[in-house]
Amino acid sequence: MKEHSGAPARGEILKVIAGLPIIGAAVAAIGSIAEAADNKAQFKYQDKPGPGGAKCSQCRFFKAPHGCSIVTGTIRPDGWCIAWARRVGGVKRRQPMMRTSASSIT
Ligand code: SF4
Repeated sequence: MKEHSGAPARGEILKVIAGLPIIGAAVAAIGSIAEAADNKAQFKYQDKPGPGGAKCSQCRFFKAPHGCSIVTGTIRPDGWCIAWARRVGGVKRRQPMMRTSASSIT
């Protein structure tokens, strides 16, 4: 019978080497998920107003009180990021009422 030298067998080394790309891909995938979970750096989010005093509370993507439909995590109403876009309007226009009186049919 052959005596074991204590060094890993060739087959064991090959198994470890074969598993490395899978581990690398898994680590990369986890990194992507973590990056997607926090994209504040990607959008250069800051906790203070941007150029011209633009702030999240004036942005079309802001979700009161502390959310955003683009940037993840907690958003300050007076924060800002590069995706800022002015919210247009703010007050919904009322629909005109139909006239139903007989005098309008003549
Ligand atoms: S898109 Fe940017 S500026 Fe607009 S609410 Fe979200 S974080 Fe604020």
